[in-house]
Amino acid sequence: MNATLQGWLADEIQSLKDQNLYKVPRILDTPAGGRVTMDGKEVINLSSNNYLGLANHPKVKQAALESIERWGVGAGAVRWIGGTMEVHDELERRLASFKHTEAVLVFTGGFTANSGTIPAVTTKEDVIISDELNHASIIDGVRLSAAQYKKSDGWVYAHKDMDSLEDCLKRAGHFKKRMIITDGVFSMDGDIAPLPEIVRLAEQYDAFVMVDDAHASGVLGKNGAGSTSHFDLYGRVDIQLGTLSKALGVIGGYIAGSSVMKDWLINRGRPYLFSTAHPPMVAAALIAALDVMENDPEPMRRLWANAKRWQEMLAANGFDTMGTETPITPVYVGDEGDAQRMEKMLWEEGVYALAIVFPTVGRGKARLRTMPNATHTEEDLDNALQAFIRVRDKLRASV
Ligand SMILES: *Cc1c(COP(=O)(O)O)cnc(C)c1O
Repeated sequence: MNATLQGWLADEIQSLKDQNLYKVPRILDTPAGGRVTMDGKEVINLSSNNYLGLANHPKVKQAALESIERWGVGAGAVRWIGGTMEVHDELERRLASFKHTEAVLVFTGGFTANSGTIPAVTTKEDVIISDELNHASIIDGVRLSAAQYKKSDGWVYAHKDMDSLEDCLKRAGHFKKRMIITDGVFSMDGDIAPLPEIVRLAEQYDAFVMVDDAHASGVLGKNGAGSTSHFDLYGRVDIQLGTLSKALGVIGGYIAGSSVMKDWLINRGRPYLFSTAHPPMVAAALIAALDVMENDPEPMRRLWANAKRWQEMLAANGFDTMGTETPITPVYVGDEGDAQRMEKMLWEEGVYALAIVFPTVGRGKARLRTMPNATHTEEDLDNALQAFIRVRDKLRASV
């Protein structure tokens, strides 16, 4: 063991602890759901992205089990080396038809879809223009690109600010290609990108748009087809990223777009080229999850009914939900220490709602991020609200 490295790690961790930025995952003893046992304690879980309950849906589980019997548990290799299994192709055809695009290419995660695609479609002659609140995986993908992208060079626009975006586009005329990239639904605030205006500006200034629909998939648009569907922008968004890990309940990410886009990413998307394909049971489970999403409107209806009810109850009791427009419901706290104290006190009350602090959000913008989903009952949400009120009152009394 190298003493310099080990000492550095210990010092850095201590510094995270001192700043209330240190994270430890709890142990989940039950499947992901609205009510779970974690670290041996039964709690209402408000911190899962399993929006529609598909992570534990009987039809999805059954499809995975049957697929194991048919295909085994591993893909064996990268797809272009070991051969691609029929079930992987079928999933891509199903996703393309769901998204109304020519083609879809699946990556093993949403994170790798971003980090593989962004550098593959840009060169040093290009510029990438980003919303300042884009997800970490977009930021990492952008950093891997040879294009211009830096905030200090003026290529990051103020959050959802279309004047700021247009200003970037006006200065970007000399680049060969201009790429605009945005979250479809912002993952920590729950607001929706103004995609119609972004697309209009892109068309005016000859730019192309990539939208990361990780939190819009299964949540917005027809049957959960995402923000392009929500805003009826079919054919006008060049690259749509979706995740298969959140509402779809399994794991993976995909790029939906043209056939030539797919061809290019098969040849130049590094996580596709150099990383093994999903186990076939993942693809089979995802096909079953899509079947549920396309044929049963009930989970999505319950998701939105629960979200609306939860947000109305919070607002009526004086909590600030930061203008969310989707089920992602931040409860604003501000101070990192207060947010972490609230998280602990809520835990004691049987509610698991995670404090989100820097660097996931800006310093001094800590919040409890709550995610009502289709699996919560009205009673769960009522109980959670009472806990939030008690904890806030205790915290106020203590200062
Ligand atoms: C979660 C998330 C991702 C990463 O997706 P995974 O499938 O979990 O890797 C990418 N982008 C956004 C906006 C996300 O919220």
